[in-house]
Amino acid sequence: MNLVWHRADLRLHDNPALGQALKEGPVLGLVVLDPNILQNTSPRRRAWFYQNVAALREGYARRGGVLLVRQGLPWEVLPQMVGALGVKQVYAVRNFTPYARFRDQKVGSVLPGRVNWLDGQYIHEPGAILKPEGGPYTVFTPFSKRWWAARKPVLLEAPPHLPAVSLPPGFDLGVIPEEASDVPLPPVGEEAALGALEVFLRDKLPRYHQTRDGLAGEGVSRLSYYFTLGVLSPRLAARRALQVGGEGALKWVNELCWRDFSGDLLYHRPEMLTQAFDPRWNDLPWNDDGELFSAWLHGQTGIPVVDACMRELRATGFLSNRGRMVVAQFAVKLALLPWQKCERAFRDLLLDGDNASNLQGWHWAGGLGVDAAPYFRVFNLVTQAETHDPGGAWLRRWVPESGGRPEPYKAQALDLDLARRRYLAAAGQIAKKPDWAARSREAKAKSP
Ligand SMILES: Cc1cc2nc3c(=O)[nH]c(=O)nc-3n(C[C@H](O)[C@H](O)[C@H](O)COP(=O)(O)OP(=O)(O)OC[C@H]3O[C@@H](n4cnc5c(N)ncnc54)[C@H](O)[C@@H]3O)c2cc1C
Repeated sequence: MNLVWHRADLRLHDNPALGQALKEGPVLGLVVLDPNILQNTSPRRRAWFYQNVAALREGYARRGGVLLVRQGLPWEVLPQMVGALGVKQVYAVRNFTPYARFRDQKVGSVLPGRVNWLDGQYIHEPGAILKPEGGPYTVFTPFSKRWWAARKPVLLEAPPHLPAVSLPPGFDLGVIPEEASDVPLPPVGEEAALGALEVFLRDKLPRYHQTRDGLAGEGVSRLSYYFTLGVLSPRLAARRALQVGGEGALKWVNELCWRDFSGDLLYHRPEMLTQAFDPRWNDLPWNDDGELFSAWLHGQTGIPVVDACMRELRATGFLSNRGRMVVAQFAVKLALLPWQKCERAFRDLLLDGDNASNLQGWHWAGGLGVDAAPYFRVFNLVTQAETHDPGGAWLRRWVPESGGRPEPYKAQALDLDLARRRYLAAAGQIAKKPDWAARSREAKAKSP
């Protein structure tokens, strides 16, 4: 018997670990509730995870299979399970965050020759898309050109049945904890995700390239919370979108390419967890102002577009990409709040919170050196609302005090003109400094 260890792949469709394990014989599924991850996340995200684990267990059961659940550190739990059940091999879809790589290396070392790692978290895994001369990309457009040219992976169907496994009598299947969420959760499980994908492809994909930028997030898929836990395969989603075709499909799949780019950036540059991607930006005059941070986090700055974004996020666990850019740019460039603290608090509110995409988003929107985003582009927060919420219906919904108007509705927590000038002056000085880190990386990449 073999074990499929599910982590960020809570699905049976297009699951290469499951596919490979089934070629070798009967399988058991396993989810390890890892305290290093679960104690470090918010109740809403834990609730979303547990409910999707429960849906995966149902998916196994419907096919005649079994999903085991255990609490503990994976490098302790897996050897116990292998010993207790006489497991031959373990199969898992590879993950790439710094903690995931540490964890997997430890599990590999306690089960030498027994763990098989397969691709499937991304369309092209971190490390797979490299410059022709070798080395990772730091700018999206050339990365995306190579990404689009790369051969797309072969997809796998969900198995209709799973071979029967016999467990020792009374063997504990393990309990999935229940936790209340402070926001309504979307429908759980892969059937719901696959259904939502089809509805999006039919109703919204054709106009996605025109509607994706709205602050209300109405023209987008809202599939990110499924992708983050791997409840939906991004490989399958991209394939289905390209089968539908058109300009909307190309734009949407390009967003999935951004997801891969985010994974790739963190894989090659784990220091972006705490340091600016271009370390020169560590020297911005950060302002750890607790009151301003709290006003930002709770949607009480007096600036309608910022407050609407943060209130919507707190109330729903979701925010449009435009809204994410606005609040990240406000926090980093205008308020100069320590970005690490904001990124962390923001991630805890997101149901789709994902280290790689969130870090990339914060570094990009904050002008901290990811991609070619110029530091001197600072959003006008009134224009952002006028352009991306014409008519003000979304503003009115989340900040009724504003009456749907984009101008400040009470005394602002920050003087925006002053803040803009302060940022541009400091950033202008920093941008003049030589980028020694990039030069040394380039020299290293060129050295034989
Ligand atoms: C400051 C900031 C923080 C962000 N944090 C996260 C996060 O924690 N988790 C997360 O999944 N996305 C994050 N994003 C990216 C993006 O905003 C969301 O993926 C997107 O808004 C989710 O909505 P959707 O599923 O309707 O996206 P769609 O527009 O339908 O796009 C389809 C899919 O493409 C991917 N995608 C889209 N845009 C991006 C992007 N800019 N970067 C990476 N992947 C993208 C997502 O997987 C998304 O589900 C962040 C962006 C910013 C600017």
